[in-house]
Amino acid sequence: MTFPSYKTQNDNSLECLFGLSLTMQSYDVIVLGAGINGCGVAENLARQGKQVLLLDKNGVGSGTSSKSSRLIHGGLRYLETAQIHLVYEALHDRQRLVEKYPDLVHYERFILPIYKSSPRPGWMIRIGLWMYDILSGSRSAGRSRKESMEAFLERFPAFSENGLRSVLSYVDAKTHDRELTRRVADDFQEFGGTIIVHDDIESIDWDRSGFVVHSAAGEFQAPLLINATGPWMDEVNEAYHFPARYQIRKVSGIHLIFDGVMVPNLMFMQTREKRIFFIIPEPENDQTILGTTEREENCEMDEVEAAEADIQYLLDQVNVYLKTDHQFQREDVRDIYIGVRPLVRKKGNMSDVSREYKLDVHQKGESKLIHIFGGKLTTYLSLAEKVAKTILK
Ligand SMILES: Cc1cc2nc3c(=O)[nH]c(=O)nc-3n(C[C@H](O)[C@H](O)[C@H](O)COP(=O)(O)OP(=O)(O)OC[C@H]3O[C@@H](n4cnc5c(N)ncnc54)[C@H](O)[C@@H]3O)c2cc1C
Repeated sequence: MTFPSYKTQNDNSLECLFGLSLTMQSYDVIVLGAGINGCGVAENLARQGKQVLLLDKNGVGSGTSSKSSRLIHGGLRYLETAQIHLVYEALHDRQRLVEKYPDLVHYERFILPIYKSSPRPGWMIRIGLWMYDILSGSRSAGRSRKESMEAFLERFPAFSENGLRSVLSYVDAKTHDRELTRRVADDFQEFGGTIIVHDDIESIDWDRSGFVVHSAAGEFQAPLLINATGPWMDEVNEAYHFPARYQIRKVSGIHLIFDGVMVPNLMFMQTREKRIFFIIPEPENDQTILGTTEREENCEMDEVEAAEADIQYLLDQVNVYLKTDHQFQREDVRDIYIGVRPLVRKKGNMSDVSREYKLDVHQKGESKLIHIFGGKLTTYLSLAEKVAKTILK
């Protein structure tokens, strides 16, 4: 695999030596954060002819956008809380992504075994799947259906037949999160966009005419700044004294990686406490991913670490369904990754947490600051369109 090349702080220091960045560089828009949302917005604006600079303190897709479950999905479980709009928009974006990047985003059939101990009865899940099919509309790549239990036990020999009540299946999409983010960044560059990675931003001045970013790589100005720093949002707002109407609730999730393909299909599983987790086979990497968990984090973003208790929790949850000689063991875990969901809450309101993204716009004279709060991998296209509309109107 070849890696795309981006400007780094060092590249610019070299230019500095030759006097190229001694002057202020001007853009129409500066985007902070090269995760899926920052790259998506930057690509959309560059495609519309804007001069855009994308800055990241680390690499492209190095944040949450490479720590996800790698699903491009409507979020079946959000139907339970009647978040119909969220599911509908995500299913619409899912279809667009399958068409836009067919080599990176593809449909998969998910298997959903229901055991006696499953917290949701089969009929309830069937209603949910039926609604999911309807919301997918003609965009769906296949309908949900009931599977034969005998065929399931034959194809998934690790699974116990004790307490198995029925097996359902439905269609959703799978991707590789970091590669998708890098592809969007590449498209951005093709439209003339500039990316500088591994850049330390020292300060940002903001007045009625615009922003001046002082960073290790140089000085950059633009009348518009988009803050797409995902779960780092609150820390960035504090560091650069930006106003904000929302805050981030940082909820981490881990994934465990095992060698080999342990199941033939992606699996949607439930814990006894009604949580969802996935078993994700990746034949292309000869590995299986198990995830994920939820843990509220109160430390700084760069200090978030996987907890041993969460690792054991995931292993225990999956092992409930497996025969004793096929259990997932701690020593079989080859790798662990942790990401932080940038969930949105109104400032000062701990309980009002939303999975939907919010755009928070602040204006001073001619200049505008737009914060992107929240936003899943799946919905970056819609989000980018909404940001562009806000800017271009
Ligand atoms: C465990 C887990 C599983 C998930 N699974 C899915 C899934 O299956 N499907 C799905 O659609 N979504 C999923 N999500 C959600 C999705 O991954 C995230 O919502 C999305 O990746 C957020 O992207 P982002 O661009 O907003 O943030 P990020 O990808 O975190 O990008 C923010 C960027 O800002 C940069 N940055 C931070 N501070 C600064 C600074 N001071 N200056 C410059 N740059 C800075 C960081 O380096 C980073 O690159 C999951 C999330 C988690 C945590």
